[in-house]
Amino acid sequence: MESIKNETKYKVLKFGGTSVANAYSNIKEIVLNELKENIKIILVLSALSGITNLLFDISNSIKNKDENKTKKLIEELYNKHIDFINKLLKTSLKEQAIAAINETINLINNYRNEGFNLTSKEEKVILAQGEILATNIYHLYFLENNIECSLINALDFIKLKENKDLDWEFIKNNLINIINKIDNNLIITQGYICRNAFGDIDNLGRGGSDYTASIIGNILNANEIYIYSDVSGLHNNDPRYVDRTYPINYISFEEAAELAYFGAKVLHPATILPAQLKNIPVILKNTFNPFSFGTVITNELPISEGFKAVAAKDNITIIKIKSYRMLLTYGYLRAVFEIFERYKTPVDMITTSEVSISVTIDNTTYLQEIINELNEIAFIEVIPNNSIICIVGYIPINKAGYLFKVLESIKDIPIRMIAYGSSDYNISLCIDTSYKQKVLEKLNKSLFEIY
Ligand code: ADP
Ligand code: ASP
Ligand code: MG
Repeated sequence: MESIKNETKYKVLKFGGTSVANAYSNIKEIVLNELKENIKIILVLSALSGITNLLFDISNSIKNKDENKTKKLIEELYNKHIDFINKLLKTSLKEQAIAAINETINLINNYRNEGFNLTSKEEKVILAQGEILATNIYHLYFLENNIECSLINALDFIKLKENKDLDWEFIKNNLINIINKIDNNLIITQGYICRNAFGDIDNLGRGGSDYTASIIGNILNANEIYIYSDVSGLHNNDPRYVDRTYPINYISFEEAAELAYFGAKVLHPATILPAQLKNIPVILKNTFNPFSFGTVITNELPISEGFKAVAAKDNITIIKIKSYRMLLTYGYLRAVFEIFERYKTPVDMITTSEVSISVTIDNTTYLQEIINELNEIAFIEVIPNNSIICIVGYIPINKAGYLFKVLESIKDIPIRMIAYGSSDYNISLCIDTSYKQKVLEKLNKSLFEIY
């Protein structure tokens, strides 16, 4: 088993797409500032904003054999990177960056040959190009600015097992082995991309660069994991839907994980656990305003009572399962949940009565198969297009008033499901998505007194 050389100290800094595309000089300043400390920096970069979407569009148009569209989209990919290279690089290193984008274009063009059918394997290769290009260009940018740094390839160490879990042993051995050979204090790598159990290129899912950062932080026992984005931390409410929101200075791992899972897009939901397991603070910062405090996610602080934040997750489907029998006899819940397990479909919310169970799912890939099997034991009703509103904070269940405060403020909104009491930290409501904006706004007023 590999181990880290000489107790070296590490910090992981991850920059998201908007920062990578628009704030390169801030990124350089932030990195230079960190390098003043006697610490190694692992810089994890996303693709330029919009590029992963564009790569999805390219693979779809190749799949649809839409030659004109494919040509246009590839030109867009090329031009966006050339414009970016022109901004960042002035010396002979520019040629190397141009060679990298040309290589990507050639690779994609190989998939456009007539008679070639693009499978998910090649699609993943295309999707990986955004992060590969961004890290290439930044590596050259730092070198051009006389900042010593090394570029390492995430495809050499981030790996999934067959069941899609991380292959921690492989990751640990390979990452440490690679890192131990590097003397530079700045090491750049790609977020999001990885290999699967068969060695093919894969990824950690949309927004997965945050996850890459926390995996690396966990393995290197980093002092801190910084997630730099375009907002000043985790806000009390979704800034895309509510006008007046504010960043939360401190939040626990558990609360942050709930918010990330239930829609706070600023953080990929899987990011928390690897950091939490090693008790490494995750600090959310704004690249465009690096001196604003941001959000520190840690369990080291005393917990203050009250509501902290709300988030909303869309595309939720409710499945109402009404037993054919008069009562839910023992073994019934197991029979129901085994069906979801068989189809690898996670259940988010659950409510029960004497004869029925309602659950919510967001992955409807196997909805029909699940319904077919459930129909053997129950009457089924499916309600699509819901949102889960997740309210977090320290709201102890033995204190009166918290649930009332939530419900009172949205008394004119129909609530389809409610989950309360399973922990002291969460109330979840499931509503028709058409009410989401209104609910988020009303909760902003009642829970956080913002008018
Ligand atoms: P990056 O590209 O840096 O990873 P993302 O787009 O993934 O950034 O996440 C940042 C965005 O998340 C913000 O611009 C903001 O609109 C959105 N967001 C949603 N909910 C929240 C929240 N509770 N706090 C902060 N940002 C949020
Ligand atoms: N570029 C990837 C995406 O857009 C990963 C990330 O940005 O975290 O989903
Ligand atoms: Mg993100």
